Amino acid sequence: MNIAQFIESFLEPFAPLKLAEDWDNVGLLLGRRNKTVKRIMTCLTVTPQSAQEAVDKRVDLIVSHHPVLFRAVKRLTDETPEGAMLLNLIEHNVAVYAPHSAFDSAINGINQRIAKGVGLKKIKSLQVLDEQTGVGIGRIGQLSKPTKLKDFAAKVRDFFGGVDIDLVGKPDDLVHTVAVTCGAAGSLFDLVKQARADALILGETMFHTFLDAQANGVTLILPGHYATERFACKALAEEIAQTFPELDVFASSAEKPPVWRL
Ligand SMILES: [Zn+2]
Repeated sequence: MNIAQFIESFLEPFAPLKLAEDWDNVGLLLGRRNKTVKRIMTCLTVTPQSAQEAVDKRVDLIVSHHPVLFRAVKRLTDETPEGAMLLNLIEHNVAVYAPHSAFDSAINGINQRIAKGVGLKKIKSLQVLDEQTGVGIGRIGQLSKPTKLKDFAAKVRDFFGGVDIDLVGKPDDLVHTVAVTCGAAGSLFDLVKQARADALILGETMFHTFLDAQANGVTLILPGHYATERFACKALAEEIAQTFPELDVFASSAEKPPVWRL
């Protein structure tokens, strides 16, 4: 199987690129489409560390949630960390595919997985992109009954493997209708207000969005950008391995959250 065939048979149906947002940079971003693919690594982000891991482990294709080459480049040299990283990948024949916002929104995408995982029912998209399937940006759903923020946040923390969670709202505030937007999704807060959600689970956002939420009586549950997206990259590796037993597939083990707390 070559990269083009792998994209067509798995990645495109899994996260159709027509669901990607206009500003995004998605699809095969580095590499030759006719290259044979035997070993695949998934990761949240291609960093110098995860790129080196892919080179050391002789990976053919990295499926990274976040794109490389997100900003236009006019030179590719080893004078910048990004340039050195890309040259390392090119010299070792490692391709990179990034589904990014298509993976956020897909029918079995990251936001859907979070919504299901924290126990929401009647899950819908916050903003529908495909009328036929109802799939789109973010998710919104309901808990089976109104639940105190402190109890629901504990459930969210469990889903994300016990990570630290930042909260906006009072511990005893009741939440019933919950929206989900993974990653740095503060710009979607207007959609959340329009949808009249009591709570929003998102990766991270800015101080002013905290204040906006507080003023509008929306509680925020913030497990961090890394936690809200990395789990799905791990799940993706398992799903590729199940679908193609002949491939060698793993999630990056070099990748770690860049932030820690004292
Ligand atoms: Zn992200």
